[in-house]
Amino acid sequence: MPIHSFQDLAAPSIKGLQTYQPGKPIDELQRQLGLTDIIKLASNENPLGPSERVKQVIRESMADISRYPDGNGFYLKQALAEKIGVETTMVTLGNGSNDVLDVIARVFLTVGREAIYSEHAFVVYGLSTQAVGATARVASAKDYGHNLQAMQALVNENTSVVFIANPNNPTGTWLEANELEAFIKALPAHVIVVLDEAYGEYLDPSEAPKSIVFLKKYPNVIITRTFSKAYGLAGLRVGYALSQPGVADLLNRVRHPFNVNSLGLVAAQEALNDQAYIDQSRLLNRQGMQQLEQGFKRLKLKYIPSVANFITVEIGPKAGEVYLALLQEGVIVRPVTGYQLPHHLRVSIGLSNENTSCLDALEKVLQRV
Ligand SMILES: *Cc1c(COP(=O)(O)O)cnc(C)c1O
Repeated sequence: MPIHSFQDLAAPSIKGLQTYQPGKPIDELQRQLGLTDIIKLASNENPLGPSERVKQVIRESMADISRYPDGNGFYLKQALAEKIGVETTMVTLGNGSNDVLDVIARVFLTVGREAIYSEHAFVVYGLSTQAVGATARVASAKDYGHNLQAMQALVNENTSVVFIANPNNPTGTWLEANELEAFIKALPAHVIVVLDEAYGEYLDPSEAPKSIVFLKKYPNVIITRTFSKAYGLAGLRVGYALSQPGVADLLNRVRHPFNVNSLGLVAAQEALNDQAYIDQSRLLNRQGMQQLEQGFKRLKLKYIPSVANFITVEIGPKAGEVYLALLQEGVIVRPVTGYQLPHHLRVSIGLSNENTSCLDALEKVLQRV
């Protein structure tokens, strides 16, 4: 019998999946438009580039790449456990935190179970939920951010996972420790709550919710973090989860044996101890955030106040056109239509000159669309 479409062969949960749309790579725009001066402020990468210390350990570790990496990531886990103040048995490493989120979905979700996340939350929650055939329950947002009351109202006996990004991408909104803890405390014991802290390093350490305390107090908490954003290692793909050892044991059963490569392991370990780089990144981000906020005000554009390393600005019905026109100017930002924000564009905080170029291009483009 002829196959009419490969669609017919796919598992039902896969048929409805949409491919993840990443920020446009610099090379791609170069190929398409032949531009040479391109600024990418589309994927919340660290504009400083990798630290010198990280580059050095990578050079030193190059000779090892013919060997398999340490599948247990012994040294990185030890470094993380020590720095954070948890046991190594509470750490699960991932190929970026996307990988960890996916592993969580595969462990705790299946057909008939439900995951809750917020409107305008990170798209991977939906993708991972759908891929395993579970049902997504999307709570309406409050001022673009998480509405914990609305999320709470969706919890039922089929709920298995609640995903919360704090701060959230693409809105940059965040939750205070008190309301977050009250929400976690009220959850039934059969519900796993994932606190996705991809942008946690950008918060002032004194202001950040003490999620490690939650982890120790509430056994159903999983924290996910990444080396892709403030640590400047997006290309190496290293992330991790923190959880109770029993949960970590389950995650490790599903995780691919060598999901973190050897250069990623050493680079992440070095980055973890490079506090000067993190401090510099946070400071640069603060300054860049102010620069973009002031620029948007000058252009009479509203934006969503953000504590992360990006800011989402309201352009209006022509946001799509503005995005394309900015590409012509060599500036890549991120459309957020896939996050139900068709009138907004997300701009990652860049170096000062990149922010200036972005604002200049935006001003120019807004005059002609
Ligand atoms: C960028 C991001 C991640 C991390 O992605 P990696 O796979 O670690 O590169 C996770 N969650 C959110 C909300 C993000 O924006």
